[in-house]
Amino acid sequence: MPDQENLSFHSLSVADTLAHFETREDGLSDRQVAEQRERHGENRLPEPRRRGPLMRLLLQFHNVLIYVLMVAGAITILLQHWVDAAVIFGVVVINALIGFIQEGRAEQAMNSIRRMLRTRARVRREGEMQEIDAVELVPGDIVLLESGDRVPADLRLIHARGLRTDESSLTGESVPVDKQTEPVEADTLLAEQTSMAWSGTLVASGQARGVVVATGERSEIGRISRATESVEAITTPLLKKIHQFGRQLTVVILILAALTFSLGVWWREQAMADMFFAAVGLAVAAIPEGLPAIITITLALGVQAMASRQAIVRRLPAVETLGSVTVICSDKTGTLTRNEMTVRGLRTAASQVEVSGGGYVAEGSLKIASGPDDDRAIQELLLAATLCNESELRDDENGRQISGDPMEAALLVLTEKSEQDPRQLRRDWPRTDNIPFESERRYMASLHHDHKGNGRILLKGAPELVLSLCRKALGSDGEPVDLDHDSWEDTLKHFSEQGQRTLALAMKSCASDKRSLEESDVETGLVLLGVVGLEDPPRKEAIDAVRDCQQAGIRVKMITGDHLGTAMAIGRQMGIGDGRKGMSGGDFQKHRDEELADFVERTDIYARFSPEDKLRLVRALREQKQVTAMTGDGVNDAPALRSADVGVAMGQKGTETAREASEIVLADDNFATIASAVRIGRGIYDNIRKSLLFILPTNGGQAMLILVAVMLGLSLPVTPVQVLWVNMVTAVTLALALAFEPAEPDVMQRPPRPPGEPILTPFLVWRVVFVSFLILAATFWVFHWHLDQGYAIEVARTAAVNTVVACEIFYLFNCRYLTRTVFARGGLFGNPWVPGAILLVMALQAGFTWLPFMQQLFQTEALSRESMTLILAVSLPVLFVVELEKWLMQRQARAALKGTTE
Ligand code: ATP
Repeated sequence: MPDQENLSFHSLSVADTLAHFETREDGLSDRQVAEQRERHGENRLPEPRRRGPLMRLLLQFHNVLIYVLMVAGAITILLQHWVDAAVIFGVVVINALIGFIQEGRAEQAMNSIRRMLRTRARVRREGEMQEIDAVELVPGDIVLLESGDRVPADLRLIHARGLRTDESSLTGESVPVDKQTEPVEADTLLAEQTSMAWSGTLVASGQARGVVVATGERSEIGRISRATESVEAITTPLLKKIHQFGRQLTVVILILAALTFSLGVWWREQAMADMFFAAVGLAVAAIPEGLPAIITITLALGVQAMASRQAIVRRLPAVETLGSVTVICSDKTGTLTRNEMTVRGLRTAASQVEVSGGGYVAEGSLKIASGPDDDRAIQELLLAATLCNESELRDDENGRQISGDPMEAALLVLTEKSEQDPRQLRRDWPRTDNIPFESERRYMASLHHDHKGNGRILLKGAPELVLSLCRKALGSDGEPVDLDHDSWEDTLKHFSEQGQRTLALAMKSCASDKRSLEESDVETGLVLLGVVGLEDPPRKEAIDAVRDCQQAGIRVKMITGDHLGTAMAIGRQMGIGDGRKGMSGGDFQKHRDEELADFVERTDIYARFSPEDKLRLVRALREQKQVTAMTGDGVNDAPALRSADVGVAMGQKGTETAREASEIVLADDNFATIASAVRIGRGIYDNIRKSLLFILPTNGGQAMLILVAVMLGLSLPVTPVQVLWVNMVTAVTLALALAFEPAEPDVMQRPPRPPGEPILTPFLVWRVVFVSFLILAATFWVFHWHLDQGYAIEVARTAAVNTVVACEIFYLFNCRYLTRTVFARGGLFGNPWVPGAILLVMALQAGFTWLPFMQQLFQTEALSRESMTLILAVSLPVLFVVELEKWLMQRQARAALKGTTE
């Protein structure tokens, strides 16, 4: 096979292109694939260029705290305090390293998740349809495209039906381009090469087949080296807010530090050098430098936890938004139900047939409940169900496999149960053309010819639609009879009341030379063959998840393309809606936008809904200030997915277009996964708040300690390097443990968090101030007790530092639950990271206090048993006092609640 470089395939005929790759419409042979793989490698775009490790490390120094420290370090050198300077610079470097490692871990988590979102491609190889990972494509492969797909490599189209592609990712042009198979002039511009489909673009509508002409870096998108999946920086609105809060706080702190210095020097007449250290100490104490890193880690852990529960986060802010979702609008088929279809019954003009057996194996049979034994319409219906069908059944060592739509596969199984071979029927009636199923059209049609020259058009689709197209139904003798609409309506009602999906099938004869099928062909002259009822049981776990969501104050709505009766029945089985109110797309469209508000809140079942209806519904819900998660899978669902606060795409049956428009992809298409993601989202948000609640009082307490000492003209209870030590060790041990905190058991029993709620609620601010004072009081007291007892100032300071850390250790337990008491089962030791972090901190503190070289660095002294007892005696009460505060606050809240309900 010659190389494809420098060949303009767009101007080559289909036959020449196929010949060039020595391929046929049947696809390459396995040997050819292996050869091509050897030559061209994987169909992978070059990784988007990322910042190198050195740059990322250097960026860690780009932060106000580090600047403050560096200036402080420089001045310390000028003052010839060598040890202090060494400690300060040591901390700067260690801090940067910690940030670098943590950021790397968070990024790694995101990258591994991105890999889960690989594009799949349908190819024909050795005459068989296969679904493969798009990276395995090689030049010469025959690829099938459908609306919603992402084009997996550059293709020369060999067959196209209504194909339009959205090439905005390549050319920036947002209007979809019509494609066809005729060659175009060699010098045509890329955007006008209509015989080509370009890698990375999206199929807006239609169907096509194409031969791969360039893969990976050689594709057009690879050449301009703009990877479609750009690396998203780890940031969310919350993280941005925290950064902003951090910057504002830093300015305030720097002013405060300057003020402390000035007041100390001029009012308290202290030595300049001492006051300089006090000011630095204050700044270092008060800036919550560990916070952004902890929050990034918490979010990354959340993303990982969601991925392990099959929810793949595409956009990080969704992790936060999920926690405040108030409405989930879910598809029915496959999300709430199992999408495992079995035909339960069918009806023709003359007969009623019951079908036994379950699953996709041909165990079971057709039993005529009423009607003649030799109903021709049943035969014709089974033939239509087999031919007007894109699915395939295969048996391999793992048993029965189905490919394609499960509902269509169920129809093939039905044919097998009637003791006919679908493959044989397909060989007898080869397909000439078809109109594929699209949700908006609600039918599929196909054109067939047998080997005797008979032509036949077959159609299957939503019964209301098919019935409206037919005047006649096929009688048992094979002759058309008049169609009795009422009796067919009754049949449909009967099927749908049992929660079954319904499909109608129809046919018409056509000329033997008819080669192509148009929509106009199915508008007249169709004869109804019958209807089938298919069972698709609810997913058990989804029923539980619906209940969990409802308990969590989240309204679950079902939005389906299916029939209202079926939707209502499934709704009843799943506890969605009140069992009475439901709305069909037709009725929905009659309402003007202003009127929607009225019922969108009350109605939970929406049937025969089009993508436009979905979009209007999302908008109406958002008008109502609801935070909406919406699922979707089709190309046209993209606008609704984008409009929803959290767009949720299906990973299995969803299109690439739907995925691109979504925040989250469900790897298993399961509703229960959304509920798990909400649970995790709520837990993550709680953990972020817990981290804030834990870190801020440490900063507050220590800063006040220095401030009070300077104002009272006393010696500093902790030196700047000691403050640095405390902040560093607690940030990487105690605070980090909170990032691993499991979600509280009642997260799904509370109402959703109000969307606009600030992260630091008044309650949180109160708690931070309260605990800051506790730490201040405890430490100040221990420090002065030591001085009063005649201990050296080094000993008093060592005791003070240990007191701060001990208070934090006990306070860490309090922080595990925001409002509930931790004196409960699992309260104290439910998170193994907590005792682990505490042990580590204790070891570090022991080193800080007793190791000679640490004593030198930090000017510490060994502590006596008496000191240790005192430290324990003042810090342990923090645990109880904060628990008492929780109890009082809860009591007050309950009283207030009672007051409002009375
Ligand atoms: P959901 O939106 O909950 O996934 P759904 O899968 O039933 O529901 P659609 O796929 O839009 O929604 O199907 C709408 C209707 O079109 C179905 O109720 C059925 O009558 C008909 N239909 C579905 N699939 C096919 C198909 N492959 N061929 C013909 N008709 C179909």
